[in-house]
Amino acid sequence: MARKKLIAGNWKMNGLLADGVELAKNISSGVKAMGKPQCEFLVCPPFTLLASVKKALRGAKVALGAQDCHMAEKGAHTGDISPLMLKDLGCSHVILGHSERRADHAESDDIVCQKAVAAHKAGLKTVICIGETLAERESGKAVDVCKKQILGSVPADSSAADTVIAYEPVWAIGTGKVPTTADVEEVHAAVRKVLAQKLGKANANKMRILYGGSVKPSNAKELLSLPDVDGALIGGASLKAEDFLAIAKNGGC
Ligand code: PEP
Repeated sequence: MARKKLIAGNWKMNGLLADGVELAKNISSGVKAMGKPQCEFLVCPPFTLLASVKKALRGAKVALGAQDCHMAEKGAHTGDISPLMLKDLGCSHVILGHSERRADHAESDDIVCQKAVAAHKAGLKTVICIGETLAERESGKAVDVCKKQILGSVPADSSAADTVIAYEPVWAIGTGKVPTTADVEEVHAAVRKVLAQKLGKANANKMRILYGGSVKPSNAKELLSLPDVDGALIGGASLKAEDFLAIAKNGGC
C-alpha cells in the first residue's frame, strides 16, 4: 500500500509576525523549487500567525494546520479556539494530543478524542499524537502505552482521509535522542495493527503514521525509509526552512 509521505512542521510557541512570515515564504519557495515533490507538506504555526502564514504560503502546496483546538463549536470558553474558527481561517489540519498539551493542560485520551470528533465535524484533518515517556520505555511498556492511546484518542469513525497518527516518544522530543530504527518500526507496526482492529484493515493500511522526536536532516533518511513510517512531525528543525526542506529531500521527497 503506497502512502504519500507527509512532512509536517510543528512550530510550537515560536515566532513573531516577521519571523513567521519569512519562514513560511522560505518554505513556500523551497517546496515550489522541488517541482513535483513525492511528499505532502504541512506547517502548524501558533494561532497568532495562522492568517499571515496562510498568505505567505499562497501558491505553494503546503497545507496549514493549528496546534490544538477546543471540542465545542463556539461558546463560553475564554481563550480557546474552535475547529470551525480554524477552518474559517483556511486551516486544513489540526495537531491534537501533543505530549506537551497532554502534560501542560492535562489532556487525556478522552479529551483528545472529543477534540478530534469536533475537528472532523468541522472538516479538519487531525494529526493525533501518541508516545511513551522514558519511564514507560525503560519498563518495556512503550508498545502497550501507544496502543492504549490509539484506542482512547482516535474516534471510532476516523478514516485515513481525515486522520494522521504521529508517534512521538516523549523522551525524544527536543532532546536530540532518537529511538533505534528497530524500536520505531516496532511501535509503528503495532500502531497499524491496533488501528486495523479499531478502524478496519483498509483504513489502517492507508492511514499515515508519522514519526516525531528529534528528526533532523542527518537522520531523516533512515527514519523515513522504515516501512511503516509515513512521514515526520518535526519540531525544532521545522523552524529553519533549510533544515525542514533538507529533511524532506533526505527522506525521499
Ligand atoms: C514535536 O514536538 O512535535 C517534535 C517532534 O519536536 P522536536 O522535533 O524538536 O523533537
